[in-house]
Amino acid sequence: MKHQKQTKHWVIHGTGDNCVDKLIRHPHIHEAAKYIRQGEVVSFPTETVYGLGANALSDEATKGIFEAKGRPSDNPLIVHISSVDQLSRVVDNVDDRARTLMNAFWPGPLTIVLEKSEQVCSLVTADLSTVGVRMPDHPVARALIEVAGLPLAAPSANRSGKPSPTSAGHVLHDLDGRIAGVIDGGETGVGVESTVLDITQDIPVILRPGGVTQRELTEVIGQVNVDPALSMSTTEHVSHDFKPISPGMKYKHYAPEGELWVVDNRNGTSKMRAYIKQNITEFKREGSRVGVLTTDDGEQDYTEADLVISLGSREDLHTVARRIYDGLRQMDAAHVDLIFCEGFSTDGIGAAIMNRLLKAAGGRVHDVR
Ligand code: AMP
Ligand code: MG
Repeated sequence: MKHQKQTKHWVIHGTGDNCVDKLIRHPHIHEAAKYIRQGEVVSFPTETVYGLGANALSDEATKGIFEAKGRPSDNPLIVHISSVDQLSRVVDNVDDRARTLMNAFWPGPLTIVLEKSEQVCSLVTADLSTVGVRMPDHPVARALIEVAGLPLAAPSANRSGKPSPTSAGHVLHDLDGRIAGVIDGGETGVGVESTVLDITQDIPVILRPGGVTQRELTEVIGQVNVDPALSMSTTEHVSHDFKPISPGMKYKHYAPEGELWVVDNRNGTSKMRAYIKQNITEFKREGSRVGVLTTDDGEQDYTEADLVISLGSREDLHTVARRIYDGLRQMDAAHVDLIFCEGFSTDGIGAAIMNRLLKAAGGRVHDVR
């Protein structure tokens, strides 16, 4: 960081009711877009998590994203567009399969990996020949891109390695003084990042599970595979020269300060809870501060823990997804040494929840027999 910045905080109320057409006249959007055009970095809400955007066609501008986040330069950024017209600045060819996916899932939480055009700078794609592109389903995001008149490279607006931000407060906690500003559009809806789908191969491959599920994709384009690296249970065992297709796969991500234990739920919720309670007793005896991430039906179970947070109903994984990063951040705010997080089903959006939890835990799931 060269120098401390005055980070602007632009609040736009009731963004859900605002349409893009109305927002493109909003003075805050214009001011934020001006910063983007000047090569600055601005955070904005999307339907998944808050993004940290800069001009995707400028190396100098995107360098600011890596600096603000402390992100490793071999982890590429997703390029965000507000209309299909902008695609021609990012990719040279859009085949039928890509069009079908765009028609079905855009705007929405699907990132499509395609061969990149010359215009996209090499820093954005970490020197890969491909680029991940997405059209977000949030009026503020699309209005900002529209008014800036540029495709925006935008990763999640957190310090590298930390849980992703689902509110402007989370963004400011991590990046105040390091970015030009944040547009505050309230809490994000999906709560976990987009699904990343590589369609440069014969059979498309999911590189990151997210807001669009494997089943939804299969219904639209037929067979879709999941990258084998995703089912590899540990990131710690990944050797140094392992070269994943999606470079982001090799880093520890989303991690809270406290040590996270994800506890397997496959043999039933009561066994899982008994296991967690026994461990809480042991760690409390050693003097640790302990937190638990559970669901509504488990909130009363952990009387010994220092902090218990419910992520909603166990039957409603969409709410769990929406609250998971805030739950991890609340644990950090309470300075717990150890966090026990109950495991979830990997059905539907559960695949994305468990993927993030596993990464946050450094790949370990505690088995309960
Ligand atoms: P984030 O920006 O934090 O949401 O992470 C973006 C994710 O998309 C990372 O896991 C990247 O590795 C992945 N990604 C972005 N661009 C590409 C690409 N061209 N090929 C493969 N994966 C990509
Ligand atoms: Mg991220």
